[in-house]
Order: sequence, then structure tokens, then C-alpha cells
Amino acid sequence: MSFFPHRHSSHKIGADHPLSGKVVYIPTMGEGSPEAFAAAFRWLGVQSQPTPPSDERTRELGGKYTTGDECYPAKVTVGDFLRVIEQPGFDAERTAFFMPTAEGPCRFGQYAPFLRKILREAGYGDVKVVSPTSRNGYVDLGGIANPFMRTAWRALVCADTIHRALLKTRPYETTPGAADRIFLESQADIVKTIENSCVDAACQLGSLVESMTRARERFRRVPALYDRELPLIGVVGEIFCRLNTFSNEDLIRKLEGYGAEACLSHITEWVGYTNSEEKRKLHLRGRKISLSMLKAYVRSHIQEADEEALIKPFEEEFVGYEEPPMEEILELAWPYLPTGGALGEMVLSVGKAAYLAKHGADGIIDISPFTCMNGIVTEAVYPKLCKAYGGIPIRNFYFDGTQADLDRDLGIYMELARSYREKKPFQRRFPAYFAPAGA
Ligand code: SF4
Repeated sequence: MSFFPHRHSSHKIGADHPLSGKVVYIPTMGEGSPEAFAAAFRWLGVQSQPTPPSDERTRELGGKYTTGDECYPAKVTVGDFLRVIEQPGFDAERTAFFMPTAEGPCRFGQYAPFLRKILREAGYGDVKVVSPTSRNGYVDLGGIANPFMRTAWRALVCADTIHRALLKTRPYETTPGAADRIFLESQADIVKTIENSCVDAACQLGSLVESMTRARERFRRVPALYDRELPLIGVVGEIFCRLNTFSNEDLIRKLEGYGAEACLSHITEWVGYTNSEEKRKLHLRGRKISLSMLKAYVRSHIQEADEEALIKPFEEEFVGYEEPPMEEILELAWPYLPTGGALGEMVLSVGKAAYLAKHGADGIIDISPFTCMNGIVTEAVYPKLCKAYGGIPIRNFYFDGTQADLDRDLGIYMELARSYREKKPFQRRFPAYFAPAGA
């Protein structure tokens, strides 16, 4: 991936750019992330917006154009893209669908060619599928690859950070809806800040840090009673299903309805993992010093520095909610799924589950699409992890759009989490704004 400071003088695309005149639609992975990601495109003069909110028609269209062998996230994203096609005034030549890709053991790498095939067969072969990857030199992004990648990373970090703030505030709010309102206000602030930010990378970072500081101040004003008695549930699992609230039936909100607080693994964790995998593979190929290696290290370093600066305003609020370094997650996963022997989200889910258990979580929920091998593998190793961490309740929830008993199952699960809470061997660290113990 190209990832270096913005060095160009004009950051807007020209009329000859492959995305000029098109609207790029972003799949809705995460709350606030697609909006921020689309803003990074707009900053470069590319029209962009998230796909419309998923609904029953999403499932209907997804089901019509898939065979049942595909995973559930493929069905949902295909359904959402086809809903764009159904919108009045749709123009194939002016439309592009953003479908990221990755190498690895799962079906995700097939999504982009699969989407192209469906569009061709449905008579919409003119719709462009944007799937930037280092393998094709980011050709889909033309000359904007460098500034886009860096700004998009910053956008995702900001979106993840305010979502983390939302999840740690909402369960304690005393005015229903206040935290959600502040979240949306902060999301709009990030979007506007990105769209209007400078060409210069340092100047852009400065304006985003100011946006994050404003977000922190808003969250601080949410009327709330922070109570140490609420169980904390770690939410891990397959990236799309755990971050797309339509696919997971809004599991986190339902958990909160049972009086729990959720700690969700966000998108940036996956980016950290892919960086670490890239470096591991370069080492394996025996390339101790090479241009690719240098690029991988510089990119990671720049990303980490940007992330640190953007999260800094929330330092005090995130005491006890710190994200572990990738090396720690992989090390904790090692006894169950050693890196290299096992790849992808299953490793992250197991490592993060162990980290959260060790830091006082009262339970772990692993969200997975039905038939996804990540959930199948993690479910097989969780009993061993549960035993190693004092019996912490870990439960896999599978989704394919037909859940009937989610509410009931969560209710039962929360009973287990509450009883584990009474005897757990690992205690949580609380930020200063929580009421003192026993108050
Ligand atoms: S992780 Fe599972 S659900 Fe997600 S793309 Fe891969 S196979 Fe499909």
C-alpha cells in the first residue's frame, strides 16, 4: 500500500481521473466509519456516500442474486449495492461501488470479482467496482492513492474513537438518547473537518485533533451516572458482521438493554493486523532489508503516529479501555491459534478475548456469520480459553438473517456474565469519572 505524506500541490482530481463524474458508494461497515471514509473521497473531489441503510429489500435482493453458498456479509453488501441501482435516477456510468479486497484464507478475497459478475449478469456491467489493492498498484485510485490512503486511515481512526466513546457512555446516560445525539454531532463534525481540511498532512492532522477535542468535550457533557456494577462484555468476531448493525440485529444495543456495557473490536484493529502480517511475510521470504520492507515499516510508523495523535484527546476517558498493541493480541492468541499456522479474524478474536478477560471483562461474545470458518474455529478453542481465564462465559452468536431467539439467548447469557462477575479473578481498571467502589 502506498502510504506517504501528501506532497502534491492540488489535491482535487482532474477530469481525466477514472473516478471523475462518478459517485463512489461505500458499504456500511461500522457506525460512522462509512460516512468518514466517504468524506476522505470527497476531500479529493470524488463524489462519495455510504450505501443506503440496509432493510428487508437488502436481504431480498441479496438472496435473489446469491446462491446460498456465499457468506452472509456478501449477501448483505450485494443487496445494498443493488438497492442503489433501484434508486430513481440511477446512472450506471456515473456509479462506482467500493469493495475492498484482501489476500487470505477466507471468501472475502472473492467478493469484488463476485460483485462484478453479478453486475454483468444483471445488465449493469458499466458500474465500476473500485477495489484498490497493492497487487494492482492501486490503479483504481489513479493518482490519489497516497493522499487518499492516509486521509482514509485518519477518518477511520476518528470514527472508531468516537464510537468507542459512544459505547462507554451510552449505557450510563441518564437522559435517553443523549449519547447517540452527541455521537451523530461528532460524526458530522469529523466529516465536515475532513472535507474542508488542508492539503498539507500536518495541517490536516491538526484540524482533526481539534475535531476530536470538540467530540471529547461533547461526550463529557452527556448527563451520566457511571456505575461500576454494570457488566462489561467484550464483542469480537467476523469484521463485517460484528460492525454492521443490520447483520447482527443490533446486538450491542440489545446487550445494553440488558444492563451491560459493550467493548467492541473496531476496524482499525484489522488494519494493524494486516500491517503486522505483511511484515511477517516479508521476513519469512528472507527479505531482511528491502524496499517493500522499508515501505511496510514506514507506513506502520506513520499510521501509529497519526492514531496516537488523534486518540490523545480521549486519553483520560479511555483509562481502562486501552487498545492493546497488535503484538500483545497475537501473543495472547498463540497458545490457542499460533500466528502463521492460523490466519485472519479468528486469531484476532481469540487474542482479544484473552486480553479482555485478563483486563476484567465479565464475558465475551463472538459474532459470526453462519457457516463462517472464523466462528467455527474460535468456538472450538474457546472452552480452553474460558478455563484458562477463570471460567469467563464466552458465547458465539451466528447470524444469517433468520435469528428468532437472539433476545432470549442474550438474556440467558447475561445471567452467566453476572454470576461470573461475582467470582472473577481479574479486575477492571476504571477511569476517574466512575463513582468510587462501594459508593
Ligand atoms: S470471514 Fe467468514 S464471513 Fe467474512 S468474508 Fe471470510 S468467510 Fe465470509
